[in-house]
Amino acid sequence: MSEITSIAVTTALLGPDYDSSGPVEMVLQEGLIAAIRPWAGVAPRLLAMPAVTDAHNHARPLSSASFGAALKPLELWLPQLATMPAVDPYTAAAAAFARSLRGGATAVMVHLTRAMGQRPLPQEAREIARAAQDVGISIGFAVAMRDRNPLVYGDYASVLSRLSPDAAQMVQKTWGAAPLAVADQIALVDEVAAAVADMDVHVDVQYGPTGVQWCSMDLLTAIADASARTGRRVHMHLLETRPQRHWADRSYPDGIVAMLDRIGLLSPRLTLAHCVYGRAAEYAAIARAGARIAVNVSSNLHLSSGIASVTAMQAAGVQVAMGLDGCALDDDDDALRELRLFHFLNRAPGFGTDGMTPQTALKAACATGRAGLGLPPGGVLAPGMPADLLLLDLDLLDPDALMPVDPRDFVMTRATRNMIRRIYAGGRLVLSDGRPSGVDIDRLHTDLRTQVRAGLPGTAALAALWPEIEDAIAAEYRGCC
Ligand SMILES: [Zn+2]
Repeated sequence: MSEITSIAVTTALLGPDYDSSGPVEMVLQEGLIAAIRPWAGVAPRLLAMPAVTDAHNHARPLSSASFGAALKPLELWLPQLATMPAVDPYTAAAAAFARSLRGGATAVMVHLTRAMGQRPLPQEAREIARAAQDVGISIGFAVAMRDRNPLVYGDYASVLSRLSPDAAQMVQKTWGAAPLAVADQIALVDEVAAAVADMDVHVDVQYGPTGVQWCSMDLLTAIADASARTGRRVHMHLLETRPQRHWADRSYPDGIVAMLDRIGLLSPRLTLAHCVYGRAAEYAAIARAGARIAVNVSSNLHLSSGIASVTAMQAAGVQVAMGLDGCALDDDDDALRELRLFHFLNRAPGFGTDGMTPQTALKAACATGRAGLGLPPGGVLAPGMPADLLLLDLDLLDPDALMPVDPRDFVMTRATRNMIRRIYAGGRLVLSDGRPSGVDIDRLHTDLRTQVRAGLPGTAALAALWPEIEDAIAAEYRGCC
């Protein structure tokens, strides 16, 4: 792209400290910010800031709340996702990516924990990559891998024993299939990578062990070895909930993170999602290895997981990135509101100085996650950096306009996706006034809802038995921890 774009704005959050400065002109060329210089003329009432990199997501077609799965702990919510019918993978991914873009993210980590499965995964991956290309975003793409504990953390015979014969049969049918062999799971990731290799969009194919409680030691070791051999990155959930912590301590008395270190999984190639229940020594080991943690505050609130202490992670030297996990506070994929909540929940109380600052929040939201998606450094407005940026409406950010106030204060107190006027990804205009340029976001959602409604009869039997199954699963965890 040799085209040159010039953008004049009243103010911009510039450099690695995201300090407000302006008016400035930004020159975009060949996907990069070629220059930033003072602007002498009258600049439009816009604020430029780097676009968000969503360091942990799953590109789910529609919110699970629409399927009656809101306000449940992860251990119930996760199996309930099986009641959501499969839909066309392109439509599903394009809708999810369009929502992410509208929320302010130009790069999204896709941990594909729920493939639609209507065609071989390499073909489905191509459809997902095509969706990213059409929306104009970059993606990391972790192929979900798992081979144990399909329903609860341990043998689910006790769940079956609490169920009626119909429900027990449904559980076996839904979760009882034998997992793919370890070697086949590793090979599948290579096949997916080969299938998307020629596509003109950034797709970083990765190993995606879903979590230690869902992956045998054989599988985890094979992934660690394959990652060291191929250089492919790894994306995994870790210590998201209290029952997971409890299970980890029983299963790995010498420490679950020490085990990951021992088998070689901890490395700069690894991104760990959540780590809400990590301990200081575990954060230190993660930091030493150069792995990073993607924190998802709203998802943790929605799923009753708790509140991750980013302060403790950062005190241990961990590189912390922000993710949305498909579950923003208002269930709307708004990365700007997420940024504010992420910052508010991790500020030092009172006059303390050891908490999160606007700078560290912006770095986590915009810059740190990029390495986990195989992207070059960015998330900073400076010459030579990728031209991934948001233009916010200053009149919406500061409707009172009473006096000069640092506009970054408004970003950190009230910015939402509705204030985004334009988004550039790799120097290309990909969104104007809330509408992605490359796809019809309303039409995608209309199509998706039609497909889901058509598919609902296919999962109606499971949905009908779900309350009974949910009770039996909940009984496994009640009183735990
Ligand atoms: Zn997740």
